[in-house]
Amino acid sequence: MTRPVAFITGAARGIGLATTKLFLDEGWQVAMNDIDTDELKTASAPLENVLAVPGDVSDPDEAARMTDMVTATLGGINALVNNAGVADFGPMEETTFARWKRVMANNLDGPFLMTQAATPALKASKGAIVNIASISGLRASTLRIAYGTSKAAVIQLTLQQAVELGEFGVRANCVAPGPVRTKLAMAVHSPEIIAAYHDALPLNRYGSESEIAEAIVFLCSNRASFITGQVLAADGGFEATGIGLP
Ligand code: NAD
Repeated sequence: MTRPVAFITGAARGIGLATTKLFLDEGWQVAMNDIDTDELKTASAPLENVLAVPGDVSDPDEAARMTDMVTATLGGINALVNNAGVADFGPMEETTFARWKRVMANNLDGPFLMTQAATPALKASKGAIVNIASISGLRASTLRIAYGTSKAAVIQLTLQQAVELGEFGVRANCVAPGPVRTKLAMAVHSPEIIAAYHDALPLNRYGSESEIAEAIVFLCSNRASFITGQVLAADGGFEATGIGLP
């Protein structure tokens, strides 16, 4: 039987790489995108049933080129995981317009453009979309004017996609991770934020990349065949506390 195809953006490390490995374990083949060509080469080299797709998800021409490459090489797309993203922590008055635009380009334009490019293939396969938001898109804070706003928009993007594409049998859901010790998070989580997260989360710890991957792969699989337009917070219980972000 032909393996279904998952196209994962930002797959060279962190949550994207863990998700790649879980899809492979479950019998999928994976098109691994990343803007970091060297890290993508290193991450994909030891893996079987993967296609490395270097490129920038925030560029419309690149989004179209990469999607064409995946469908031409692997025969279609059964799941698109819009995982690529960047972080930027800081108060509003210190957030330059250049920083704001960088966050919006990577975190919001990317998922829009990649989904637009992949939609014909997803309609053909009656496939699934999973967008990676964040608990920062569900709660406001003093530090996340750009990042939090981009992730809240990704949640609404998911709802729009679910409603628009439902009649074609395409599902769209969102995973909102809590803190995970990836390169992205560790660049902006100070020791104070790390300690505060440990106190704030009912599970009193950071999550792992593979714990987030489990939620993503589940929502892409047929086990979630009647689930669309949902936001699944994989966050150690943070949402349940009702308190503010550290
Ligand atoms: P990471 O930095 O380890 O991985 C992100 C990957 O995306 C990198 O390999 C990077 O090169 C790639 N990327 C960035 N911009 C790109 C672009 N324009 N085109 C292609 N690739 C690009 O970070 P991560 O923590 O694994 O983040 C994955 C996703 O999870 C992000 O969307 C992030 O916002 C989200 N998230 C992470 C956390 C956390 O605590 N780590 C929490 C909530 C949400």
